[in-house]
Order: sequence, then C-alpha cells, then structure tokens
Amino acid sequence: MNLGNKKPEKRQIPMYVYYIIVAAVIIILNWIVFPAISQRSVITTDYSTFLNNVERQNVSEVTVDDNYIYYVARKDGVDTMCRTVRMDDPNLVERLDAAGVNMSAAEPQTQSIFLTLILSYAIPIVIFVLIGRWLSKKMMNSMGGGPGGMMSFGKSNAKVYVKSSTGIKFTDVAGEDEAKELLTEIVDYLHNPGKYSEIGASMPKGALLVGPPGTGKTLLAKAVAGEAEVPFFSISGSEFVEMFVGMGAAKVRDLFKQANEKAPCIVFIDEIDTIGKKRDGAGFTGGNDEREQTLNQLLTEMDGFDSSKGVVILAATNRPDSLDPALLRPGRFDRRIPVELPDLQGREEILRVHAKKIKIADSVRFDEIAKAAAGASGAELANIVNEAALRAVRDGRKFATQADFEESIEVVIAGYQKKNRVLSNKEKLIVSYHEIGHALVAAKQTDSAPVHKITIIPRTSGALGYTMQVDEQEHYLMTKEELENKIATFTGGRAAEELIFHSITTGAANDIEQATKLARAMISRYGMSDEFDMVAMENISNQYLGGDASLACSFETQTLLDKKVVELVRAQHEKAMKILQENIGKLHELAKYLYEQETITGEEFMKILQQPLAAVTDGQAAQD
Ligand code: ADP
Ligand code: MG
Ligand code: ZN
Repeated sequence: MNLGNKKPEKRQIPMYVYYIIVAAVIIILNWIVFPAISQRSVITTDYSTFLNNVERQNVSEVTVDDNYIYYVARKDGVDTMCRTVRMDDPNLVERLDAAGVNMSAAEPQTQSIFLTLILSYAIPIVIFVLIGRWLSKKMMNSMGGGPGGMMSFGKSNAKVYVKSSTGIKFTDVAGEDEAKELLTEIVDYLHNPGKYSEIGASMPKGALLVGPPGTGKTLLAKAVAGEAEVPFFSISGSEFVEMFVGMGAAKVRDLFKQANEKAPCIVFIDEIDTIGKKRDGAGFTGGNDEREQTLNQLLTEMDGFDSSKGVVILAATNRPDSLDPALLRPGRFDRRIPVELPDLQGREEILRVHAKKIKIADSVRFDEIAKAAAGASGAELANIVNEAALRAVRDGRKFATQADFEESIEVVIAGYQKKNRVLSNKEKLIVSYHEIGHALVAAKQTDSAPVHKITIIPRTSGALGYTMQVDEQEHYLMTKEELENKIATFTGGRAAEELIFHSITTGAANDIEQATKLARAMISRYGMSDEFDMVAMENISNQYLGGDASLACSFETQTLLDKKVVELVRAQHEKAMKILQENIGKLHELAKYLYEQETITGEEFMKILQQPLAAVTDGQAAQD
C-alpha cells in the first residue's frame, strides 16, 4: 500500500527520463535536422557527371574544399546546387577555364558548412551544459529540502505534510483505541489551544509510540498528520545519521528551526532508537561521537522551545528500553503511547479494514480468520489479506474465499506451502505421528486449546508438519497448569516418535526450543517453582523484539535453575508419553488418517477422536 510518501510540492521524475530525453534530442538533431539543413537542395553526383556538365557548359560556379567540389549546375533551366567527391585531377583547372566557369566566386557552401559545424558541435554542447546545470540544481534542491545551493548538507530532509496530504485518517487504523484516544487529544490541542490554556493545562512536549514491529506506529503518526490541520514534519531517525561528525546535530537544529517557524505543528521522528540509544560513556569503540552529538542536540532542542507555541514531537520505536533515559524524563517524551499487538477483536477489525481494498466472497468469516491468526501483527494481517487476494488471482477467481484466507495465514505465519518438496513415505509417516502426537496431547489435557488444523505438507520455513493451535478465547493470564500443559503439548511430537518408532529425529528442534523457553520463563520469571519462590532470576530487555533474557543471579543459582528447567520439561515429556500410551489406538487411527489426507481440520480430528475406536490392529501402521 502506498502510505502517501509523496512530496506534495514537487513530483519526482526519475533520472532515466532525463537521459532518454537527452538521447532523443541528440538522435533527432543528428539524423533529421542536420542532414536536412546541410544537404538542403545539395545533390551528390559522381565525378563524371560533373565533368560532363562542365563540358556541356552547364556549370556556372565551382567551389572546392578539402573533400568536395561544390558546383551550381543548370538543369532544365533551373540552377541546382550539386557536389561531387574531389578527385586528384590536375587538369581540372584547365577544363574549368576552358568551359569558362567562374572559380573565384564567393564560396556558396561556406556559410552552410559553418552552420553545420555550429549545429552539430556547439549546440549539443550548450544543451548538455544547460541540462547538467539544471539537473545538479534539482539534485541540490531535493537533497537539501530547499534552495540551499552547494552547502545544503546540514539541512534536515524532513518531509512536510500539509493537511490531510497523507490521506490516512484514524479510521484507517483499526483497533489501538487507547493510542488513538491519546493522539486525538494532541490533535485537538493543536486545533483549540485556548480550551487547554484556560485551565492552565499544557500539553506534553513529546509522545513516544512504543510497541512491537508492524503494529501500526508509523501508520498512527501518518493518521495524525491526516487529521491535524497543521504542518507535519516527518523524518526517520536514520536520516540524521551522517557521514560527517556534526552533520546530524546540524540537521536536528535545522528541523527544529523549521518547526518553530511553522508552529503550531507536529514533528514526527520514526525509529528514534537509531539516534536515541543510551549513551555509554567513552566505551572501547569510541566511534559514537556523531550519534551522541545528534542526541545531545535533540535533547537541547526539546528543552529549548516552549510547548505553548504548539510544537508537539511524536516519536516511534520498538526498543523503548534501549533509549537514553534523558529522552524519557518529564519535559521531553513524557507521554508513552503503547501500541500493542492486536487482540482477537482488533485483529478482526484490521482484517476488515484491509479487506475493503479487495473483492471477497460473502461467505468469508473474519472472526474465524482472526481466531486462527493469533499473535499476528497488523502488518502481518495486512499481508494475509493481500496473500489471499493473490491466491484468488492465481486460481483465476474474481474474489477471495475463506479457503484463500486460511491458506494465506499459513503462508504468512508458517511459510509457503512447498509443492515440490517431497517427503519419502517413511518420513511422511513419522511426521504424521509427530503432528498427531502434538494434537492428541493437546486435546487430551482438559485445559489445552483444541486443534484448528493439522498438516504434513512441508512449508518453506522448514517445518515439515504443522499443528495450528487456537485458543477458544484469548486470555492474558495463564495458570501454571496451562503452561505445563503447553510444554507437554510441545513434547507430544517427539513422544509419539519414541513410542511408535523407538527412535528419534531432528523434527522436534523447534518444539524443544519453545518448550525450553517456556519452562525457563516459568521458573526464572513467573515464580512458578517451589525452590525460588517469587525471586526473579532473569531480566528481560527488548521485550518487543522477542526479548533477550539476561541472568540476574549467582552462578550457583544458575546451575540450579538449569537443573530445574530440565526437570520441568522432563516431567511434562513423561506426562505426554503417558497420554499417548493410553490413547495409542487413537494415535494410530489419527496418524493413518492424516498420512492419507495430508491436511485435516480440527473438527475432523475431534470427530475421529470421539468415535469409538475403529477395529484397526495396533502397530500395523507403524510397520509399513
Ligand atoms: P510499525 O509499528 O512497525 O511502524 P507500520 O505502521 O509501519 O508498523 O505498519 C505496517 C503496516 O501494517 C501498515 O502500513 C498497515 O497496512 C498495517 N497495519 C498495522 N497496524 C494496523 C492497524 N492497527 N490497522 C490497520 N492496518 C495496520
Ligand atoms: Mg514504523
Ligand atoms: Zn513438533
């Protein structure tokens, strides 16, 4: 989607268009205009024709230059300018004399040759020079954001949006009601400052949009630009990073100078963590001078202007904890606007917003799709809608169906369905048991979420099979039992392999990773073990970007912690094993069914699970 990144005041014409124009001009001049001028009414004849004409006294004037002999011949009573290639003919002068031809007359062609010279050499050069000057001027302008001439390096390249030029409104942002409310207030303040100053309220100088990638932070800022009827300066943190020390600081200065002139207005700095990282003293690298200077300048500028003038600074980041504390103190970015991953309802709304842009079948159930896309960000949901439309086109349909959406969820979340990667039958069987192992353990534990879809069609992400778990309703609080059940479900795949094939494969790598992460968090952060009670063993930084854990305990405790994690996972693994053993008949039945069908839905799964056991002899499927 085009987010309205265009500059309202001038349209950018791509460079190659200029080249094409220049080339076309040259070609036209060379092929059409020059020959037409220089050869206008000049007929080229051969030498013998020329001599013939001389003998017959048809020739009146002759001019000789280095290459050609130009002569005026009388033909059918009309004087015609002719030329012929000059031959090494010592008798020429005599012959001409004898014929009484005027050789000393003014050279009829000189002017034309001179003209040709000018046209073919001088004019192109002049054109080139002019175009070159014009281009370099244009480049200077677009680089410097103004007619800055050569020394425009210190200019900020903030794009100024005038009222609603982004075309994005708050209604284009689905969900995120809290963020929208806070931003609406800012917009309102800029429109009616009197209302606020009456009771002495002052707006925060800056607001920081924080949240995971793809949740719509940039989109929200653009919506503010669309809603606010004041100038909106938008710049990305990385644009401050310059080759030369001091340039970033100069840009900051320029940005705020412009903002002050245009007040009331909004300044938006996207990805502010690029320049706002914690300053870390000298350090060993010592190469951060430029960034620090830029940051210092930003801090100074934010202190420097008074908010009563109506300059509000917005910034966005997905790494709030890496920001320098000085940026966050009151008087700077003192308002934090969380932009979190959408919940079930938010996801549905986002899907609807984006689905407006495509044609869909009436039968599409957005609530179902939203449910299946748990954990997806706004950007991923937008992507899911687009993928669904692409699939519809690929299949030659005019609109997207529910199946398109369901498939595109898997495309976006689990990677592309790989049609050409073929599993051997043995592998397919193992994967079938593995996936049914997950699903069966999940279904048999009362608190575990039912299964939405199970497939053994490999994905490009590397997963050989895939069991999609869907929570009936979302919840934010997880009990200890639920977490344990989740771990058991993760181990269920491997447990099924062990139980049936008595050997294990690499297929469980991802399960192992997830189970470990969960178990570790339970003990080190959620206080769910007897040994450590409510003591935090790990701190999490970068929570929006996956979260990096850093240990906060002694070496001995760490060893114990690791041991506890292993114990926890092992206990759940054993539990999963037990569940599968008790239901081995269903395991065979379901795995066989999945092996044949390759993809089964949650309903099919539950139906087979609840049926009385079919009369299949145990252990059969495993043998072949
Ligand atoms: P970030 O938070 O990383 O800045 P963006 O604002 O760039 O994320 O969002 C990327 C895209 O995802 C947007 O252009 C939009 O299409 C889609 N998107 C994200 N959140 C939402 C939302 N709440 N409503 C509608 N679309 C959204
Ligand atoms: Mg962004
Ligand atoms: Zn697995």
